[in-house]
Amino acid sequence: MNDNSIEKSKLFASSLCAAEGVADKKIVRVGNVVFGEGEPVIIAGPCAVESAEQIEAIAAALSKMGVAMLRGGVFKPRTSPYDFQGLGFEGLAYIDAASKKYGIPFVTEVMEVAYLERVAQYCDMIQIGSRNMYNYPLLRAVGRLNKPVLLKRAFSATLKEWTLAAEYIAAQGNEQIVLCERGIRGFDPCTRNTLDITAVPIMQMNTGLPVIVDPSHATGRSHLVEPVSRAAVAVGADGLIIEVHPEPEKALSDGEQSVRLDQFEAIIDSVKQCCRR
Ligand code: PEP
Ligand code: MN
Repeated sequence: MNDNSIEKSKLFASSLCAAEGVADKKIVRVGNVVFGEGEPVIIAGPCAVESAEQIEAIAAALSKMGVAMLRGGVFKPRTSPYDFQGLGFEGLAYIDAASKKYGIPFVTEVMEVAYLERVAQYCDMIQIGSRNMYNYPLLRAVGRLNKPVLLKRAFSATLKEWTLAAEYIAAQGNEQIVLCERGIRGFDPCTRNTLDITAVPIMQMNTGLPVIVDPSHATGRSHLVEPVSRAAVAVGADGLIIEVHPEPEKALSDGEQSVRLDQFEAIIDSVKQCCRR
């Protein structure tokens, strides 16, 4: 990365890491859901949409709990090409139906420019995953849409690189960006990643964008989701995105880090107590 790029940037990066660089706070709306104002927004759902029945049961349970948004991947960026890759557009139809039935907006990941517009017709928010944070054609293309974007941090990205990735989107006209800290690659295999909690206030201050935390991918272990969610909210995160599965041991992806529905309900209660300041 060329260091001059930071001076040339117009929107967010100009103030990055400068103590005095406090950007104006922006709020991002996804339907009636507001990021960056008041209570942290809770997003939950399976790593992957596995069947119509699975996503329907999860959406029913989450909407009963008052969860703001549903998540569910249909195009899965798996490390091995032999692992479950997601149900594709068939899965998109399932999550769209569940979302509409229970009135709960949904976010889903897109990996290819060619699929963006078709997915955007259905979803309420587009997720750019960790592996695609450096995919500049994809960032530009999502920047041309009028659709909120959840931009996850690449597991190797500096805060400057992450900020400039947001800038790629915003420079095309789409400033409806929510950032998601999901852990960076550390040296300790005890957790899947290492949550960079400091990134939350730094990115909020320097970009003004809402920043949420993904405790599921950050830790890779379901029993760590509750304490890490509490930490995220305590540091001032604008929301959480949590992987939930009715039967984690049978999940087609990320079962080890997925919490059951009853565990998830307890996590929300616990997180709410942290919000009372
Ligand atoms: C996901 O949200 O399921 C996912 C693949 O996340 P990440 O891009 O952070 O690895
Ligand atoms: Mn996952």
